[in-house]
Amino acid sequence: MRICEHFRSLQGEGLTIGVPTYFVRTAGCNLDCEWCDTKYAREDPGIEVTVDQVMEMIGSSANVCVTGGEPLLQSDMPELLNRLLNGGKKVVLETNGSVDLSGVPDHPGLIISMDIKCPTSGMDAEMRLANLTMLTSKDQLKFVIADKKDLYYAIRFMEDHPTDANVIFTPVGGIDLEAIADEVVMRGLDVRVLPQLHKIIWGDRRSV
Ligand code: SF4
Repeated sequence: MRICEHFRSLQGEGLTIGVPTYFVRTAGCNLDCEWCDTKYAREDPGIEVTVDQVMEMIGSSANVCVTGGEPLLQSDMPELLNRLLNGGKKVVLETNGSVDLSGVPDHPGLIISMDIKCPTSGMDAEMRLANLTMLTSKDQLKFVIADKKDLYYAIRFMEDHPTDANVIFTPVGGIDLEAIADEVVMRGLDVRVLPQLHKIIWGDRRSV
């Protein structure tokens, strides 16, 4: 597989926010989100590594996040996920919502964190809705929200596509959380509103 970086940090998003985690970021993405904050992962060709080498990098870290780019573009990703899970790791797989999930292992140690791209991304038409049936109550559906239009889109999407997965509303870096929080509280929505913790701590630095 091709990776563009790997590092230790705190999980910055979602159900495991704040947990010390080893990140493996694959190179390459099939989407082109307007507000993409990891353009380097799309543009950097990265380096070719084997699954054995990735396992060695991760070492004894108990929590692993495989992210991108888009990790599921790597043909040996199912092998890596199976090796990690069979080795007792807790794994979060971050995927952009446009790629088939059917090769992803069904394992209690794996949280699938799937995006639903909202209109400001310019990629909302690229979502693979059939993936929704593969998400369960251990997984998460993440809406990255840049403005009120995105927020109302996400609310409507949830009404049209009820899910057992945990729903996360994440604001695009730098926008005010209060408008999103107020609307969610007023409507009593069954979602979590979470900032990106790593950006609060380290700003826009890479490899954190
Ligand atoms: S899916 Fe992720 S990596 Fe790809 S363009 Fe969108 S934000 Fe960037």
